[in-house]
Amino acid sequence: MLYIHSATILTPSQTIVDGAVLIEGNRFAAVGLQAQVKPPSGARVIDAAGLWLVPGLIDLQLNGAFGHDFTAAPDTLWDVAACLPRYGVTAFLPTIVTSPLETITAAQGVLRKGAPPGFAGAAPLGLHLEGPFLNPEKRGAHDLAYLRPPASDAIADWSLPHGIRLVTLAPELPGALDMVRALAARGVVVSAGHSRASYAEACAGLDAGIRYSTHLFNAMPPMDHRAPGLVGALLTDARVTVGLIPDGVHLHASVVALAWQAKGPHQVNLVTDAIAALGMPPGRYRLGDFEVMTDGISARLADGRLAGSVLSLDQAVRNLIAFTGCSLAEAIGTVTATPAALLGLLHERGRIAPGLLADLTLLSPDLHVTATIVQGQEVYSMPSDQAAIKEVKHGTAQRDF
Ligand code: ZN
Repeated sequence: MLYIHSATILTPSQTIVDGAVLIEGNRFAAVGLQAQVKPPSGARVIDAAGLWLVPGLIDLQLNGAFGHDFTAAPDTLWDVAACLPRYGVTAFLPTIVTSPLETITAAQGVLRKGAPPGFAGAAPLGLHLEGPFLNPEKRGAHDLAYLRPPASDAIADWSLPHGIRLVTLAPELPGALDMVRALAARGVVVSAGHSRASYAEACAGLDAGIRYSTHLFNAMPPMDHRAPGLVGALLTDARVTVGLIPDGVHLHASVVALAWQAKGPHQVNLVTDAIAALGMPPGRYRLGDFEVMTDGISARLADGRLAGSVLSLDQAVRNLIAFTGCSLAEAIGTVTATPAALLGLLHERGRIAPGLLADLTLLSPDLHVTATIVQGQEVYSMPSDQAAIKEVKHGTAQRDF
């Protein structure tokens, strides 16, 4: 048993000052005022005085980190998962960019095989397949050679039991709507992205079952006041949750604020879209078949096109607050309850409540991760002698935005 006390706890209904949680096994057993939730004898105790206790963060779009690229080497996902808790991340979707179908099959195999013995870290909840059914004219950093038109035989085993959780496609491609319907019927979340869909084509995709948008605004035409297009449809349709990359590079801060005002706090989801360079020094890294250069702020192909990011999810939360003026509870919701709801997992994840999986992170008053717990197990704790160094690093990064 694990008992954490003296924290300020963000629960679905309220913020509890001087709160405590009791964890039994891998789930929350009790959550409430410290005066009401007492430690059983024998429980391990963590004093979280001065800290926020929030649900563990969930990243729906992560291409790799710490020098590893999931598309180039899917079996590295466990090494990355082991290190993600330093950013407060307790669950994620390993993202495979446009690649040969055999690469996707290999990634499915890695998930099927399961975690290596002794693994402790963030949980992969299934793959996010970004491609190969994307519009070549909006391919961004996806390889033209592997893009293909939608075909049902290519997705025969794309389903939850086979490790596929989210698929990004361009709804205007011939055959895309049938694919949306087929995937949605299997419980796979379908997302519009890397697309030139008109407003009408986007609405048809939404009616077919699209419920998410991959990095809204990026890799899609801008909204025109007479031709609102995909962006207009996604911003105004109440069924859609929009993914944003709030690194200060992919989107101007005011555009993040615009999406926030249009969609409200429950249908904005922050992602990192981070690549192998996350957690590494500036240099050259892989994204699929491409070489990407990073300067510590952005990640780009040789011709300057953006190719993912070097954003961490805890930094994304801090940036959203800076860009919109929203509350911590609202910002945390975009990377916890909102993605959990989108994936149909709100009964298990994304909230601090009795009965749910005990995924949580502790944040300092300036919102940096000090400890992360995955299913009741402490998998990250910031060494006290590193705290001052990290403060300086994060401060520098944010000023550059
Ligand atoms: Zn993309």
